[in-house]
Amino acid sequence: MCGIFGIHGHAEAAHITYLGLYALQHRGQESAGICASNGREQLVHRGMGLVADVFSEATLAKLPGRHAIGHVRYSTAGESNLRNAQPFCATTDGGPVSIAHNGNLVNALAIRRELEGRGAIFSSTADSEVIVHLLARSREASPEERLIDALSRVKGAFSLAVLTDDALVAARDPWGFRPLVLGRLDGAFVVASESCALDLIGASVERELEPGEVIVIRRGRLRALRPFAKVPRQAFCIFEQIYFARPDSNLVRQNVYAFRKDLGRMLAREHPVEADMVVPVLDSGTAAALGYAEESGIPYETALIRNHYVRRTFIEPSHSIRHFGVKVKHNAVRSILEGKRVVLVEDSIVRGTTLLKLVTLVRQAGARAVHVRVSSPPTIGPCHYGIDTPSREELIAHQHSVEEIREAIGADTLGYLSLEGLRGTSARLKAGICDACFSDDYPVPPGDDEAAPQLSLFHAVEEGFSDDVRSPARRGPRE
Ligand code: SF4
Repeated sequence: MCGIFGIHGHAEAAHITYLGLYALQHRGQESAGICASNGREQLVHRGMGLVADVFSEATLAKLPGRHAIGHVRYSTAGESNLRNAQPFCATTDGGPVSIAHNGNLVNALAIRRELEGRGAIFSSTADSEVIVHLLARSREASPEERLIDALSRVKGAFSLAVLTDDALVAARDPWGFRPLVLGRLDGAFVVASESCALDLIGASVERELEPGEVIVIRRGRLRALRPFAKVPRQAFCIFEQIYFARPDSNLVRQNVYAFRKDLGRMLAREHPVEADMVVPVLDSGTAAALGYAEESGIPYETALIRNHYVRRTFIEPSHSIRHFGVKVKHNAVRSILEGKRVVLVEDSIVRGTTLLKLVTLVRQAGARAVHVRVSSPPTIGPCHYGIDTPSREELIAHQHSVEEIREAIGADTLGYLSLEGLRGTSARLKAGICDACFSDDYPVPPGDDEAAPQLSLFHAVEEGFSDDVRSPARRGPRE
């Protein structure tokens, strides 16, 4: 998953983009980058690590211009290194172009092989670079027509912010997998992956881009296009609402926090249990736990404390460190839990390792019973559209029944939200959804790109980091 941001027509474009990326940090911690344009040239700064690590006053001062795009990344394929950090920038015969991409392309590998067979040289291993190559080779006249030409050839998930010499172009794939919102700030146009980025910079939220929509912002005017062929249905990633997005964001015109709370309510109706308290797995289980508590009438207690200075366990690089990370990250409050029957609410289970540790922690703190409730259905398949889930074989729900999982994590009872419950709660969203990792109903066939490398092009101002620097925050799958 990645976060993207773009602004057109603001005197402090790079600084505003920096702030926007700050708000989107949860969408990627491996690398960050900003490309700014002053109408004549584009300058980019990219580095490994968090936004605050990558940028300083000095680096931002080297990114002048009234237009900018930015990107925070974690890799869903390919390596975590500087060559794959975005924005990708290229000089084409139509002028400079920079691209920030959120999503995964399912036919990138096939296109890459085809282009390499015709002599193209790729400088990264990220899938997004195929867009740059296709755009550079297009015979269309304007940069936006070239981009549309390129995007017409790729399949899968893309939300994009693209900077040309004088325009900001934003696009969403026809399925609408990944979010992209449009705002205004002091007369400038802004696009961002989530509305929380617009809140931080004080921009108004105008609307979300529609699936398949391309907007072109040039000289203070916005032009909206619908250039792509229609697809059978929309497929907004429901995992954005369940787990990935920030709860203060509104996606597909639904507040994420409120949605998660409603999932918790539904979960309580589907899997009631006699208990003394509802305890969330912080932070993503919080809203669902509140919903469960309100619906069931069982008191809510924050009896598992999270150390916020440890990064998400699912960015850890190996099993041993992952287990270690769970212990470092959470502690149980014995004085609350002792002798109590606990409902532990989590948003999803991928491998089951985190929950095994947490259930053990809660028991060791004296809980009499631990009932686990999960505010999504069993995760039975991988994601091919931009969320870094492990292979099917590593998913505990692919391999095991609910009863076997309950036994594996050491819970007294285990209840998942049903697929019908998820779909029923999602019915109010102003979009069709993708729930393929829960249903195996993949909107776009994965193709042969499951092991696809990810792509990149050119660089300009890259200081203090070398290409072989690896991020300490290499983000692995959930758990
Ligand atoms: S497969 Fe799952 S994670 Fe991937 S886009 Fe669909 S709902 Fe989201």
